[in-house]
Amino acid sequence: MTAPLDLLDLDTLLTDEERDVRDLARRVADDRVRPQIADWYERGTVPVRDLAAEFGKLGLLGMHLEGYGCAGASAVQYGLACMELEAADSGVRSLVSVQGSLAMYAIWKYGSEEQKQQWLPGMAAGELIGCFGLTEPDHGSDPANMSTRARRDGDDWVLTGGKMWITNAPVADVAVIWARAEEGVYGFAVPTGTPGFAAREIKHKMSLRASSTGEITLDEVRLPESARLPEARGLKAPLSCLTEARFGIIWGALGAARDCLHTALEYSTTREQFGRPIGGFQLTQAKLADMTVELQKGFLLALHLGRRRDEAGSLRPEQVSVGKLNNVREAITIARQCRTILGGNGISGEYPVMRHANNLESVLTYEGTSEIHQLVIGQALTGLNAFAG
Ligand SMILES: Cc1cc2nc3c(=O)[nH]c(=O)nc-3n(C[C@H](O)[C@H](O)[C@H](O)COP(=O)(O)OP(=O)(O)OC[C@H]3O[C@@H](n4cnc5c(N)ncnc54)[C@H](O)[C@@H]3O)c2cc1C
Repeated sequence: MTAPLDLLDLDTLLTDEERDVRDLARRVADDRVRPQIADWYERGTVPVRDLAAEFGKLGLLGMHLEGYGCAGASAVQYGLACMELEAADSGVRSLVSVQGSLAMYAIWKYGSEEQKQQWLPGMAAGELIGCFGLTEPDHGSDPANMSTRARRDGDDWVLTGGKMWITNAPVADVAVIWARAEEGVYGFAVPTGTPGFAAREIKHKMSLRASSTGEITLDEVRLPESARLPEARGLKAPLSCLTEARFGIIWGALGAARDCLHTALEYSTTREQFGRPIGGFQLTQAKLADMTVELQKGFLLALHLGRRRDEAGSLRPEQVSVGKLNNVREAITIARQCRTILGGNGISGEYPVMRHANNLESVLTYEGTSEIHQLVIGQALTGLNAFAG
């Protein structure tokens, strides 16, 4: 947290090593992302390869994984890095989440030794970019009904179908693709140069504009058995990857909210109306107070989940759902409220607030919508599955 928003001195709950990682991520976000982010956002572009190379040098890619060139950081350290990157922009944090928690984690957890050696060191260094294709045009919240098929043909596999809304896909070197075979859902590490694989950039996004998002088509993509992730059996494999990425979002969303609140607080003490700073009006102070309370509560929640994960080695899906549901929902509420404090300037790209608010619309939807997380929590509470009605 950045004083004066850290009313509860939550910074004191962090170790020196954790603060070091946080400061490193904050520095790279400040130096490398902030000066250019408004321009990237407006133009709807982002230099994924340059950023990945810089993040890789600093050990920020797949940082919570062990071996293969990964930093082996704790869950809390990883969360703090996500928070600082997303304080600059959710799109930049998405780049890191998809690379580390989705693509690298899938290969690290479910891949063969040969696949790990082939992909992970280059991905950790930011020399190779990965993406993770689960969502399809007709199947988002309900991936169990996916249409993409994996068919055996002699010793090979042939993939047919399509994936939608895939972060990093247009620039990726390797795509982790989930497809239904006769035996169930399988994952494949697909080199994107394989004939029949194509990724088209999705244009006209009003959110997450500083992120590369693609639609993948798989037209009879022929792969050897060695491309299949041997340890991934069934839908629980991709869902476990989502649990990884959702953990980073719990922290990341707080970064976006903090940046909005920081901006609104500063603005409220310098902008004058009726002869006094707008921060001197009780209604503005009520907004600032409520937002600060929520931000600090969100941080405590993230830190609790991070400490649990570091101690227990993993979190239950419903625990991650509590964090993602609350922290993204509160972050977007804070961003919208901060927008009101900036008045007309709130809609300008000169300030980061509207950009964060727009980005958080994507964050609210991806990695499980709020409704899906409510259903996960509801099922944990009642033992009843309400997903299908
Ligand atoms: C910018 C961006 C980047 C993304 N990156 C990736 C990526 O890298 N890889 C990837 O695989 N996917 C990615 N996604 C896809 C994302 O995970 C999906 O958009 C998300 O899971 C929702 O699916 P959908 O868009 O098909 O919406 P739908 O599933 O059609 O949902 C529409 C609405 O219906 C609600 N709904 C659905 N089912 C139920 C139910 N049972 N009960 C109550 N309400 C329900 C939802 O909550 C939502 O409000 C990305 C999305 C965006 C926007």
